[in-house]
Amino acid sequence: MVGFGHWAVPERQNTKSLRRAYNKALILNCIRTCGPVSRTQIRTHTRLRMASITELVRELVEAGLVIEAGMNGAGRGRKQVLLRVNAGHGLAVGVEFDADHVIALIADLDMAVVARHIVEFPLGQDKDAILAKLIEGVRDVILSAGIDRARLIGIGIADPGLVDRERGVSVLSSTIEGWRSVPLREIFEQEFSVPVQMEENTRTKTLAEKRFGAGRGVGHLMFIDFGPGIGCGVATPNGLFRGSGGNAGELGHTHVMDGGPVCRCGSYGCLETVASLPAIARRATEAIGQGAASSIRDLAGGDPAAITADHVFEAARRGDKLALGILDETSRYLGMGIANAVNLFNPEMVVFDARLAPVQDLLFEAIENTVKRQALEASTRGLRFAVSELGQEAGALGAAAMVLDSVFEIPQLDIPDFV
Ligand SMILES: [Zn+2]
Repeated sequence: MVGFGHWAVPERQNTKSLRRAYNKALILNCIRTCGPVSRTQIRTHTRLRMASITELVRELVEAGLVIEAGMNGAGRGRKQVLLRVNAGHGLAVGVEFDADHVIALIADLDMAVVARHIVEFPLGQDKDAILAKLIEGVRDVILSAGIDRARLIGIGIADPGLVDRERGVSVLSSTIEGWRSVPLREIFEQEFSVPVQMEENTRTKTLAEKRFGAGRGVGHLMFIDFGPGIGCGVATPNGLFRGSGGNAGELGHTHVMDGGPVCRCGSYGCLETVASLPAIARRATEAIGQGAASSIRDLAGGDPAAITADHVFEAARRGDKLALGILDETSRYLGMGIANAVNLFNPEMVVFDARLAPVQDLLFEAIENTVKRQALEASTRGLRFAVSELGQEAGALGAAAMVLDSVFEIPQLDIPDFV
């Protein structure tokens, strides 16, 4: 049960209309969280007066946001009408992209996915072509859903790089060359005529895993984004941790090796340079170039330059010594990086990206052992590890959830400064 009563509204500092909007949002959130729920139960949760509840519920029903959902038959008391959120009243698009894919989906107010569009493309680094695919992906998912455009609340974009959320600009991507200062919000708002929100995809994945995935019910969660780069998202019971400039979570650029390889960020020995997908491939290519015997080369068609991390993973599963050695090292470096992050943020659960799932049995035990050995005992006591349950859709789901949150947002109160 969720109690809303502690959000008391100061009597004098707020206008009547703000208090009314606040109470309405409170009731709507109560119905969303606890529904189907009766008006009497809403009173118990919100501690609002029954007259206000009756009036505000009527407005919510008239607006189409809330519908009746049968009668409450339990107990000895009078039967009561139950209320729930009208899931189909509003729809949100969530879209996630990178240099090689676009995943777009449409979710209703209950976060049920009603349409999805997944496209993978070998476009290389063509910035304009990627942008075109991104717009096409959103257009296609809206068309395929056959929905009334008036029900579309907004679009959430999960961006692979740095994002300026205030300006709605995709600042920089380390995976798409030349992708700098792209005004994505403006482009999408002009194209689709609905409000657009942006967030880094590591954070939308974190949000999705906490709400609907492996981290359901977890207060403090850390998500490890693993791919061409490495990042981490931190969720607290109060929301996502972004840092003052929105740059928090750059796990891939924490240092794990003295004087290690040069990183894309300009520094040396960052975690990304020794443990990301490209780093795994590079280490195999280098070792084979220096004459190491391994089946990785055959898996890559005999061309060391064509080796990818997937070839190394496959060889490791077959017991290849070089591949196993590379994964052993990778797990140690990842373990070091995550141990540092655990010491800093003290999460309850660490959720690994779905891209690590295929090598879960080869990597996770070693990562967990390193974390438990290197992080503080007090921080690892009770710490749980899990793998993403949402797979490749996590980023897009989180982006859609971000849009839907704006419907249920509780208005900010003007709290007086007592200092
Ligand atoms: Zn770096």
